[in-house]
Amino acid sequence: MKIVVLAKQVPDTWSDRKLDLVTGMLDRAASDPVPDEIGERALENALRYKDANPDAEVVVLMMGPEDTSKSLRKLLSMGADSAVLVEDPALVGSDMVQTARVLAAALQKIGADLILAGNESTDGRGGVVPAMVAELLGLPLLPALENLEITPELVSGVCQIDGGTLALESPLPAVVSVTERTADARFPNFKGIMQAKKKPLDTWSLANLGIQAGPEAASVRSVMVSAVERPAKQSGPKITDDGTAAEQLVDFLTSNKLI
Ligand SMILES: Cc1cc2nc3c(=O)[nH]c(=O)nc-3n(C[C@H](O)[C@H](O)[C@H](O)COP(=O)(O)OP(=O)(O)OC[C@H]3O[C@@H](n4cnc5c(N)ncnc54)[C@H](O)[C@@H]3O)c2cc1C
Repeated sequence: MKIVVLAKQVPDTWSDRKLDLVTGMLDRAASDPVPDEIGERALENALRYKDANPDAEVVVLMMGPEDTSKSLRKLLSMGADSAVLVEDPALVGSDMVQTARVLAAALQKIGADLILAGNESTDGRGGVVPAMVAELLGLPLLPALENLEITPELVSGVCQIDGGTLALESPLPAVVSVTERTADARFPNFKGIMQAKKKPLDTWSLANLGIQAGPEAASVRSVMVSAVERPAKQSGPKITDDGTAAEQLVDFLTSNKLI
């Protein structure tokens, strides 16, 4: 069984995240790049299967800028067998359609019985890349699973919908996305960190995948037209109870259309 985990690198949510207001792109110097936590959870699900089935192979796939080796080594130190980074100057400013096309091409080259992804990244939060990848590869999608069970033939799990719970199942190969309610990711141990230094980490360009990207190659494409920084938070009004606090509170909620 070969499981490929789609893992994105994102700016650390604990640090200051900034957009470059001129290019509309992430200011990479403003925050530490880390593997997205949801990708770590997807990896954890793959590693739990591998713990019980040592013959299984777990590959991490990332599309991103060149400074990803620290993130990829962390995922390798958790227990992935190998990693592939797709990196190319033509990928600057990629939208979700292009990202899915590139990931699908890389997945075809790697070959996978099961593809595990996060349901939504913590920075872009588009929430559609796994579905697009499934569509491009002609595979079933089990979206937003909160737990999953993998067997050599099947993947199954449960997802929440409004007012209920769905139990889903698909034969392999399939694409699965998981939510943050699924498996807590393990911490790399010393042995894992040492082993990770020697594990294969390949970098592929678009030429290696035999595809093109960028404005000329895209038949459809969304572009960022402007970027505006979120205004700084202002402190709200303080209500001192002089006997009219309840009234003041109701006035405040009413004037802000909260009730
Ligand atoms: C303005 C802008 C500039 C960008 N510049 C670049 C750039 O220079 N270089 C570049 O490589 N990309 C670039 N991107 C692409 C971007 O980083 C995302 O990968 C892409 O837009 C997916 O969006 P999302 O995170 O909202 O996807 P979602 O659908 O929210 O992601 C869901 C899941 O899909 C998987 N996934 C998503 N993206 C990736 C990925 N990149 N690699 C592996 N798995 C993934 C993960 O499992 C993730 O949890 C840019 C995007 C924008 C909007």
